[in-house]
Order: sequence, then structure tokens, then C-alpha cells
Amino acid sequence: MSEENIDVLIIGAGPSGCVSASYLYDKNCKVKIIEKSKFPRFVIGESLLPRCMDHFEEVGLLDSLKACDFEVKEGARFIRGEEVCNFDFSKKHTQGWDWTWQVPRADFDNVLANELIKRGVDIAFEHEVIDVVIDEDGTSITTIKNEEGQSYTVKAKHIIDSSGYGRVLPRLLNLEKPSELLDQSSIFTHVKDIKRPEGWEGSRITFDVIDLRVWLWVIPFSDDTTSIGYVGPTEFIESFEGTPTEKLAKMLKLSDYYSDRFDGVDFLFNPVEIKNYSKSVKQLYGKGYVLTGNSAEFLDPVFSSGVTFATESALLAAKLIAKELQNTEVDWEVEYSDYIKKGVNVFATYVKEWYTGNLQEIFFHKPENPEIKKQICAVLAGYVWDETNPFVKNHHRLVKTVARIIAMEKENEGV
Ligand code: FAD
Repeated sequence: MSEENIDVLIIGAGPSGCVSASYLYDKNCKVKIIEKSKFPRFVIGESLLPRCMDHFEEVGLLDSLKACDFEVKEGARFIRGEEVCNFDFSKKHTQGWDWTWQVPRADFDNVLANELIKRGVDIAFEHEVIDVVIDEDGTSITTIKNEEGQSYTVKAKHIIDSSGYGRVLPRLLNLEKPSELLDQSSIFTHVKDIKRPEGWEGSRITFDVIDLRVWLWVIPFSDDTTSIGYVGPTEFIESFEGTPTEKLAKMLKLSDYYSDRFDGVDFLFNPVEIKNYSKSVKQLYGKGYVLTGNSAEFLDPVFSSGVTFATESALLAAKLIAKELQNTEVDWEVEYSDYIKKGVNVFATYVKEWYTGNLQEIFFHKPENPEIKKQICAVLAGYVWDETNPFVKNHHRLVKTVARIIAMEKENEGV
């Protein structure tokens, strides 16, 4: 097979790869996506944040998504025993989208990929990247195995690694770094939600706090199926015995709020376990390559930030590559790495403070402080680069400070 010679090779056709490809293709770059799976394929990450709507809109993928009947997500609900905290995205500090979707990713990602194919983007499904060699000038030779097991190579000026948990370049270029976050794991499936309550109560994504580090997600879809998943310390998830189905069924009994609703419902596939899901890397870019989405960093599912980071980083990476292809110099450290890390660090603070319990205290404190709630709501909507928001700008200090004030108030009241 003769070697193809292209501008940008993209590894993976998830939301990250599709957003990059869409932008670059529209800029007349020669791009090709290599995707290991056959679509539609299952992947976890079903609750989106309003911020990612900006990205899909900017690269012209929003209309094809709007044409699908995905469940609209206008906020999120957190419950802890009798306590409830509802966030409504229309009441947030930062201007921007006040809704998004809850999506079965097999369908969602398939819509994105099909839209690209319709426009003429070259996606090689069931082709797997197995090796990458990058020259000093950044030109790469990627070895790919096709569905028949034959290998071929592609020469590219740039590689975008959006391979998600495939983590192709972190593995091949030794970029992996242990995450600073706690060792958390998850087990999840989809169910036929035959006991779903009508209306808002039944359709809003809910996080049910079982214990400081253990929680259950419930993400209803528009077709009456629902995604349910437990998250907890790895040793907690491993402490349940039996088949994955038996384990998840036992965990569901821990939820006062949901045990009846999901008692006896059919799991639509064998529950999937992902252990120690938090991932990090030593660097986000290098000569000739950039990492986007989960291949770069994954924090935690608790604030549903994964897809939004995937699309934020994908769009920025694509813009910077397009600039370079037009011979404009790019400072990747400042324009990419610093920017992406700024947002990641905000969310990392929120994840850490969730598991210290500080954020949980703020969420469930009554009476609510409407101003604080609006500012935290903007973070939960994914607007984590807006420094007019004190809960973004001072994220390191503010969550701790507010939690301390609440604790002092409780002490004074003798609670
Ligand atoms: P992906 O969507 O994973 O796509 C990567 C693609 O690369 C895949 O299609 C794969 O087949 C392909 N690939 C891999 N290796 C190769 C290779 N060698 N060659 C070619 N192709 C390859 N995020 C949210 O936003 N909301 C949530 O509610 C949420 N819940 C989560 C729950 C859990 C338990 C976990 C672990 C994660 C969750 N996430 C969530 C995160 C979410 O899964 C990811 O952030 C998101 O899917 C990242 O998108 P991506 O495009 O980077 O990668």
C-alpha cells in the first residue's frame, strides 16, 4: 500500500476527534481520522455540560445533534438522604448555554461521525494505530492495522491524539503520569427504567450521595432507558462479590432514594467496571503532536466534565494547528497547555473538595446563598475559564473558606 501524506492525523472518532476534524476540514486541511472501533460503539460519559454546546456550534455539528431527540439537561440534582440541592443552568454567573443533553454515547458519537462522513471527512473505522515515530521536525509516520490485520503507514505534519482511554501517545511516548486524585473506580450499566416518575423528577440527572466517597449516578435518556453507575474508592467497588450484575444489584440496595425504582429492573448489558479511572500526563503536546480529551487527562465523573474538556481541548488544538499550517508561530506552552491546565485545575479543585466533603457541605447547606449558588452553577455548567467568577478565579481558596464558615455557623448553632 502506498504511504498517504496528510496534514493532520487524528486518532479516535469520539467527540474530541470529531470536533478537531470538523474544524480542520472546514479550513481545507487534509485530515484523516483513524478509529479502532466499528461505530456505533458504547462508551461511558453520557451527561454533557452546557459549555460543550459552544464547541459543537462553532464547528457546525450542533444542528445534526439537535435533529436527534436526546434528553434535554437543564441542570443537575444532588441528593444526600433527605437533603436535596438542585442546580438550574439558567441561574448561573457566566453568560452562556443554559441547557445541554443526556445522551447514550453510542448514538451521539455516531451522529457526529456520520455528519463528518457526509461532509467528506475520511474516517477509517476498525483501523487501529499501533505505532508512531516522530522526526525532530515534527513529521510523523504512523503505523496502522486495518480490519484485515494488514499494516500501512500514514505520514502527517501533525497528530492529534484523541484516543480517549486508548491513550495511544501517552503509552507510546511514555507520557503517562500518576493522577493526583484519589483511587476511585466505577461500575455501570443501562436499565429499562420502567418505574421512572413522570416529568422533571424522573428526567433530571441525579447524583445520590451514599457516603463521603461513594455516590450513584442516574442519567435518564429520552428513550425510557437510564444509565446508572456507582462510583467509590477502588477497595469499596472491589469489596462486593459475585458477577458484575450481582455486585451492582447489591450496591443499588444502598440507595434509600433509588433502591425501589431499580429493584428487579433489567440491566441492558453486563455492568462494566473501570478501575482507578483518573489519568494524567507529563505534557499535553510535543513537536508534531498534541493530546486532547481523555487521552490527555481524566479527573472524575462527579461533575460530568469529561466530554466538555474533550471538545474544549480539541477545538483549541485544531485552531492552533490550523495557525501553524498557515505558517503562523504558535506558543504551545502558553496558548494550549497553560490554557487547558487552567480549566483542568479549577475542576480538579472541585473534585478534590467534593471528596474532602467541603463541597458537599456547601451544596446541602440551608438556607442557600443565591449568589454563591449562581457562581458554583457556572462552574458546573463548564464555564471554568471565566475569571469574573470568584469561584473560578479563587477556586483554591474559596471552596475551603465557605465550607469553613458553614462549619463555624453549625458549631455556633450547636448542630
Ligand atoms: P472517547 O470518546 O473515549 O473516544 C476515543 C476513541 O478513540 C474511541 O472511539 C476509541 O475506539 C478510539 N481509539 C482508542 N485507541 C485507538 C487506537 N489505538 N487507534 C484508533 N482509535 C483508537 N464525561 C462526561 O462528559 N460526562 C459524564 O457523565 C461522564 N461520566 C463518566 C463516567 C465514568 C465512570 C468515566 C470513567 C468517565 C466518564 N466521563 C464522563 C468521561 C468521558 O468518558 C470522556 O471524557 C469522553 O468520552 C472523552 O472523549 P474523547 O473523545 O476524548 O474519547
